[in-house]
Amino acid sequence: MKPETHCIHVPYQSPDAYGALNMPVYHTLAYEFPDAASMVEAFCGRSSDPDYSRVTNPTVIYLEKRVRELAGARDAIALSSGMAAISAAVMALAGAGKNIVTSRHLFGNTFLLFNDLLGRFGVETRFVDMTDAAEVEKAIDADTCCVFMEIMTNPQMEVADIAAISGVTRGKGVPLLADTTMIPFTHFSASRLGIDVEIVSSTKYFTGGGTALGGLVIDYGTVDGFNDRMRKEMVMNLGAYMTPHAAYMQTLGMETLHVRYARQQAGAMAVADALSRLPGVVGVNYPGLKDNPYHKLCMEQFCGNTGAMVTFDLPSQQACFRFIDALKLVHRSTNLFDNRSLAIHPASTIFGPLTEEQRRDMDISPTLIRLSVGLEDADDIIADLTQAILKATES
Ligand SMILES: *Cc1c(COP(=O)(O)O)cnc(C)c1O
Repeated sequence: MKPETHCIHVPYQSPDAYGALNMPVYHTLAYEFPDAASMVEAFCGRSSDPDYSRVTNPTVIYLEKRVRELAGARDAIALSSGMAAISAAVMALAGAGKNIVTSRHLFGNTFLLFNDLLGRFGVETRFVDMTDAAEVEKAIDADTCCVFMEIMTNPQMEVADIAAISGVTRGKGVPLLADTTMIPFTHFSASRLGIDVEIVSSTKYFTGGGTALGGLVIDYGTVDGFNDRMRKEMVMNLGAYMTPHAAYMQTLGMETLHVRYARQQAGAMAVADALSRLPGVVGVNYPGLKDNPYHKLCMEQFCGNTGAMVTFDLPSQQACFRFIDALKLVHRSTNLFDNRSLAIHPASTIFGPLTEEQRRDMDISPTLIRLSVGLEDADDIIADLTQAILKATES
């Protein structure tokens, strides 16, 4: 089966009393057992019967099964948000005295989690240039618990050579964790590139409509003890397992993912192309553009996929604000890969709580606009962007 067929043809575990075609939403937190012995089996993890929905729930298990099968992974663990997934996966490996090797080009909350929160627990974060595998190698020592990277950084749109980095991490015996939110995991093979643990904010491409938060930890079974730590410590003790309702929304989202993604990527390409020819636009970042420095690498490692996020620079921060204010169709909103097109000025919003120096270190430019291209007709999106850019840059 091709992935787009497989996505919608994963049977759920047990027959439903009514033969429901969709997996029912099990809005329950506890489960009843026929006898004491079967309770012992379930609570001690020797049977797969659900016991408590902080730890396992049939609707969530079904989403996990779909993800696991599609990724060809050993396990997929569903959490309540992308940040919950990142926190749990990293905390499963980190401890006082350990260090994380990563880039400064990180999602804002991931940066704060590593630098501030984990820092308070005695975990050191080492920032390197991910596009330089030799620098990654130099930063790794005996206390490195993982290398953490984003496959396409948001909003800098930097793409590192994943196979080069995994060559280093495999050589050193250090797990490589990658946040792959920017390209759907169904569209390229993370394990073939040497990623040990893939982390996805399923809030983004999977739900599509922007209806439910979610995070996935996709475990390829290459890190000793990781799965036990995730299931037995992180899921149970952090208490951030996905809710059945969110799992249901994401399961539905996954069924239309291929159709939505193809259209959104084509839209992003058309938008990036139009923006690059518009007077008033200082520069456009989209790896689908042939002159983008990451074009070739992106096409190769992500099997021709370049995502549906485009960033571009206007002459000043004031012009960015005027642009945002002038939008009529594109929504002023955060989130990515919603069905609707969304625009945001990252420096003053998502990265607003950081200091100016931190923003400078992370290359968050005050003149940058981030655009998530939705399902609308590309000509309509381009027309709105064009009128807003004209208003923002005239006189
Ligand atoms: C949105 C996002 C996250 C965080 O996901 P949430 O579901 O909002 O917690 C992490 N990484 C990247 C790259 C993201 O875009």
